[in-house]
Amino acid sequence: MERTQQRAAAEESYAKGLEANRQLAESFEAGIYGADRSIKQVDLAVVVHVLYREESDNISMEQIHSQIDVLNRDFNWEQNDKGLIPEIWRESGETSGFRFHLADKDPDGNFTTGVTRKQTTVSDIGGGEDYYRAEWGGIEPWPQPHYINIWVCEIGGNVLGFTYLPSVSAQPSDGIVMDPRAFGTTGTAVHPYNGGRTLVHEMGHYFGLRHLWGQEEGDCTNTDYMADTPWQREANFGCNDFPHVSCPSEPDGDMFMNFMDYADDECGLLFTKNQIEFMQLVLQTAKVTLLHSPAITGITEPDDLGLTIYPNPAEEKINALFDSRYKGKKFGVYNALGQEVRTGWVSSSVESVDLSNLSKGVYFLKIDSDFVRIQKQ
Ligand SMILES: [Zn+2]
Repeated sequence: MERTQQRAAAEESYAKGLEANRQLAESFEAGIYGADRSIKQVDLAVVVHVLYREESDNISMEQIHSQIDVLNRDFNWEQNDKGLIPEIWRESGETSGFRFHLADKDPDGNFTTGVTRKQTTVSDIGGGEDYYRAEWGGIEPWPQPHYINIWVCEIGGNVLGFTYLPSVSAQPSDGIVMDPRAFGTTGTAVHPYNGGRTLVHEMGHYFGLRHLWGQEEGDCTNTDYMADTPWQREANFGCNDFPHVSCPSEPDGDMFMNFMDYADDECGLLFTKNQIEFMQLVLQTAKVTLLHSPAITGITEPDDLGLTIYPNPAEEKINALFDSRYKGKKFGVYNALGQEVRTGWVSSSVESVDLSNLSKGVYFLKIDSDFVRIQKQ
């Protein structure tokens, strides 16, 4: 909130967009506006900028994937700890349909892993205004209309992560900044922040959600614009026992296990239906350009098979990203009749396969017993 207010004070266009978004939230709370609920799934492109001072903070792909997995789980109501939600709120959640993917196209249209890396000499770079400026030791953002930018870097001041509330006016600093201690579930992530839920919380802000206690702590009349969350006086930390009452008007007490409170990762458990719908509404308004981003072309999940193809559909060529277990093995591309039209050997993690003189249609890339469908355009 501090960062958001500082930015609003410094940038008039951001402040205007922020106010427009607050009015949208007010109308949403009043039931005047809602999201288009017919959209069941959206694919969102993420770029992770790993900005490290110590080599130990040059986090692994595995750690990055572990974080993307948590986002997809918690934004799709697939978490397996729903039984810990107090019974009165256990049916409060639902899926957003948001599917987060590491981008596979960079802003120039070239293949990317969706991760950039840079060593910096600036300590606590995320604590200031340098993290998004290359000349000051940071990494420039990729165009915010099409990419959700996440910088993973030292922040300092015991801050785990931060972001800005949405505005149609994108700022160069726009995105989410995360400390490596609170990113993903492995590697540099440290208990109790190694459940990946700091980013779930920040992504909630990124899509317009406020804390449960509203703009400021201290009384029971600050709204978070969500009709299905109770009034709450202040933040809750750690893990609480139900009921925990901070406002006399709420006999069931605080929804302290909501992702938009400050619970430890193992005790933050849900977004409510209104929170989900409001994020969908923000995606369809202030952040609509993220929909149909050209930054993701692949249709297969890297974790399913250990094999990812991009772009897919393809015109001239495909790139196949192979898990290390395939190293040295032969792969083949087959047409719909099962005839082998290409072969190759896996000598590096990414192999390029030329499709230019094949006719349009469906092909399969096969290695061992795994195969991926390829659409040639
Ligand atoms: Zn927050």
